[in-house]
Amino acid sequence: MKLTPHFTLAELTRSTTAERLRLDNTPPADVIRALQTTAEMLERIRDTLGAPVIVTSGYRSPEVNRAVGGATSSDHMAGQAADILAPSFGTPYLIASTLAPLVSTLRIEQLILEGVKGKQWVHVSTRRPAKVINRIITITDAGARAGIHALA
Ligand SMILES: [Zn+2]
Repeated sequence: MKLTPHFTLAELTRSTTAERLRLDNTPPADVIRALQTTAEMLERIRDTLGAPVIVTSGYRSPEVNRAVGGATSSDHMAGQAADILAPSFGTPYLIASTLAPLVSTLRIEQLILEGVKGKQWVHVSTRRPAKVINRIITITDAGARAGIHALA
């Protein structure tokens, strides 16, 4: 099922962890509506980058979120967040620093550059965090910092 011209429900719900552990990752109806909004945000990001956007993690059922060690209040469980890469555009740092000045225009309510346990990706969400300082952050093994910072 296509949510938008370039994003399908399948790619926003696919989880290698769910497959490996045989966990159900089927989203309920209200989550599908949220994923639609997320896909629309991803289209705007794709347009801005001028490159295909690969979703490495979209919706996570509570079981899948627990298995990947996601935050207990993760926007992924509500279908409001996606972890993305765009290899033909550049590194996660380049993606995040390109998107950071455009979050309002692109209606990205939270932008996180993550570099954890040797992996790097960009997390985007349609839900605005309670504290403004958390809207654009970098998370590494050392912790979270406001703004986008180059990863080691
Ligand atoms: Zn994420």
